[in-house]
Amino acid sequence: MTTLQPFTFTCPLCGNMFETALVTSSNSFGPLHSDFYREASGTQPVCYFAHSCTSCGFSGFDGDFQPQQFSEEFRKKVAEIITPEIKARKIEPNGHYYLVALCAEWQGATPLALGRIYQMGAWCHRTKNEPDKEQFFLARAAEFFERGIKAGEAQGENKAVYMYILGDLYRRLGSPESAGEWYRKAVEAVKAGGDPKIAEMAERQIKDPKDIL
Ligand SMILES: [Zn+2]
Repeated sequence: MTTLQPFTFTCPLCGNMFETALVTSSNSFGPLHSDFYREASGTQPVCYFAHSCTSCGFSGFDGDFQPQQFSEEFRKKVAEIITPEIKARKIEPNGHYYLVALCAEWQGATPLALGRIYQMGAWCHRTKNEPDKEQFFLARAAEFFERGIKAGEAQGENKAVYMYILGDLYRRLGSPESAGEWYRKAVEAVKAGGDPKIAEMAERQIKDPKDIL
């Protein structure tokens, strides 16, 4: 079972104390989705990995709420772009992956790291059965993963993995041609040094695509 516990965070940006839900245990007993989302049995923990300060909107994962220094530029961006948005509506402390991605981007996160944040956001909306929002996040994930691959950020075995994921993202976004292209690139990348399982998965998704493996 997934266990959630209330936990008080102190926002490292504005000092506000707020209560959020923290995942204290989970499991990987559920089915595996074709884009590597592993369902848990019981409550799905994925939305609860993202926390947002309910006062200024600073957002991140558990570790991002450790005391730390921020640049003036970062403070200004949060104050001007995020805070007015969240002040207008009372926000829940969990599941705002768009805000997590913005804060990470403004702090210099790499394209692949940003792609992973958007991918988790897509999974969060999938668990809530919000297909339009899921599609938005899948598209952002594809954009950043593609940028990361082009910049040479994916190295060694990871290269084929990200190419496979891109194939699957485009397939889920309803672009079978781009999907096929990236699945085939993944197969090629495995030949140059990658996990043969990834090539098998890519071949299978070309012939007989499935959302859940
Ligand atoms: Zn704050």
